[in-house]
Formats: sequence, structure tokens, C-alpha cells
Amino acid sequence: MNGKTVMACIEAAHATLKEHTDEIAALDQQIGDGDHIFNLLRGMDALFAMRAAIEAEAFAPALDQAASKLLSTVGGSSGPLFFSLLHGMAKAAQNADTLSVADAARIFAAGVDAVAQRGKAGTGSKTMMDVLIPVASRFMELAERSAPREAVLDALPRTAEEGMLATRDMLATKGRASFLGERARGHIDPGARSSQLMIGAVCARLAQYRE
Ligand code: ADP
Ligand code: MG
Repeated sequence: MNGKTVMACIEAAHATLKEHTDEIAALDQQIGDGDHIFNLLRGMDALFAMRAAIEAEAFAPALDQAASKLLSTVGGSSGPLFFSLLHGMAKAAQNADTLSVADAARIFAAGVDAVAQRGKAGTGSKTMMDVLIPVASRFMELAERSAPREAVLDALPRTAEEGMLATRDMLATKGRASFLGERARGHIDPGARSSQLMIGAVCARLAQYRE
């Protein structure tokens, strides 16, 4: 993993968000203020504008540069949360440019922990945490069982999808949707959907690499 791989993952995440813009905008109009996807796309565009700088870096500093740019461009609740994810991963990654499944699981879990600390939400609050936490747990579990890389890249998108779908029937206790009470039930959380899509796209992209 290096800056080029990080940029390839950003590209994959961007492509799926573009493809699902209208859907995510509609979800956020139902239970939020409608800006989530546009906040995220603004951040992604800013990352593209600094492509050469990200690609020139090693893995951890590439993640960190992307994190800082997201913090200054995304805004909303999700900007600081996505910053925490990438910054938390960068801190845990340090010099690890060649990652084992176990390293990658530990790094991702550190990022998700940082998001949880920032947003103070666990699972069950109808947020992106309903995707991120189960994916981090499943990742650790697969690493402990020494699952091969391909099996991990195949399993995590399915865990992400289950987590995203589970938000549909939840009451929201964090973020704007929490003001809606029962009216939030029956709607998938937009941040859970965007996170799930990005995880799926990044896994598919990484599956194209040999290691
Ligand atoms: P805002 O709510 O400020 O408009 P965004 O539209 O950028 O923020 O993002 C909304 C998404 O952020 C929600 O769909 C939810 O997934 C996520 N979110 C909101 N609050 C939290 C939190 N405390 N912890 C984790 N995720 C959260
Ligand atoms: Mg919003």
C-alpha cells in the first residue's frame, strides 16, 4: 500500500458515490437535510485536485493528507468523522507499506475507534457506525482466523451491506435524524449507505491488486 493505492481507493469510492448521488440525496432528504452526498463529493473533488501530492506519499502520510483535506472541505457531521477514520488509520499504519491482513484489520479498527470517539455513537443509533463497527469486527475476526486476503475482500462488502440495511428499521439517536423520532423508521441512513458503498468499491478495487 502506498499513495498510489490510496488514490486508487479514493477513485473507486468517488465513482460509486457519483453513481448513487440521487439515491443518497433522496435518503438524506427523508431523514436529514439533504447535503450529505454533496458534502462528500466536494471532499472527493478536493482530493482529486491534490492527486499528485497523495500519490507521491507513502501509505500513512497519504491517508493523513487525504484526512486533512476532507476535514477542511466536507463539513457537516460527516466531515470530522471521515477525517477521524483516515487520520486514525494513518496513526496506526505508520511505516507499514506492506500490509498483512492482520495489519490491515488493526489499522481499519483503529480508524473506526477514532470515529466512535469523535461521534460518540456505537451500533444501533442509525448512523454510519452501523456499517463501520460490524465491518471492523468482521475484519478482526477474519484476520484472527488467518483468512486469505481474497476471502476478506469478498466478505467485508457483505457485512457492510447487512449493516446498512439494518439501519432501515432503527430509531435514530444521533445526528439530525434523531429529531424525527418514529418518522425516521423505515428509511436507510444516508451515511450508512455512503459508507457501505465506499467499502464495497474499495474492496473491489483492492481485489484487483495482487497484494
Ligand atoms: P449533518 O447531519 O450535519 O447534515 P452530514 O449530512 O454530513 O451531516 O452527514 C449525515 C450522516 O452523518 C448521517 O447519515 C449519519 O450516518 C452520520 N452521523 C451523524 N451523526 C453521527 C455520529 N454522532 N456518529 C456517527 N455518524 C454520525
Ligand atoms: Mg446533512
